[in-house]
Amino acid sequence: MTLDELIQKVEAARLRRSEHLIVQIVAVTKYTQDIEVLKRLYNDGQRAFGENRVQDMEKKVNALEDLPIEWHFIGNLQKNKINKLLKLNPFMIQSINSYELAEAINKRANKPLRCLLEINSSKEPTKHGLPPEEAIDTYLKIKENLPNINLQGVMTIGAHTDDEKEIRKSFRLTYNIFDKLKPYGAKICSMGMSSDFEIAIEEGSNMIRVGRILLESYV
Ligand SMILES: *Cc1c(COP(=O)(O)O)cnc(C)c1O
Repeated sequence: MTLDELIQKVEAARLRRSEHLIVQIVAVTKYTQDIEVLKRLYNDGQRAFGENRVQDMEKKVNALEDLPIEWHFIGNLQKNKINKLLKLNPFMIQSINSYELAEAINKRANKPLRCLLEINSSKEPTKHGLPPEEAIDTYLKIKENLPNINLQGVMTIGAHTDDEKEIRKSFRLTYNIFDKLKPYGAKICSMGMSSDFEIAIEEGSNMIRVGRILLESYV
């Protein structure tokens, strides 16, 4: 799917939710090491890119340093990679999946960083992220104690199933947490990937992270 085709689908989905909903697209480029693919996406207008490995992100950031790209880190961050990631000056870290990780980043950062709290909304043991019932307390504790973690909202990966009801349920659960955090400054609800971004938007997502279906058109 080209970026234009994706934007049209996003547009239709957001209107099913609300004409006031604005949805940002993060292009997840983790499947390719080919810089030309990223350049083609950039030339079509894409500005936000997502990567889940520090090493890969480093190569791409360096190769594209002249372009005004927003880099989003979306993967599980090992503590021994924090310094390397911070040097890349990411626009946002979407995958804060424990208080301990937030603490470790807070200590090493020398300025506030935009971050999202990752929630394991489907409670799948293979997934990272906070259990939903701990999310609000942890969010507030980070806000209170860790000045370099500028929490802007939440991120989740939808339930891994073909059952649309289950997927919707995991998004709705995350949206409800987001809604409760709005009085504390939460602005971003990042949910929806290639297979489920339309459902996510219908459930209130305002940031989708799309890789596979987009890259097919650009490789
Ligand atoms: C890979 C990945 C995506 C994109 O998934 P696609 O199915 O390729 O669209 C989104 N979010 C996270 C956290 C990912 O790791």
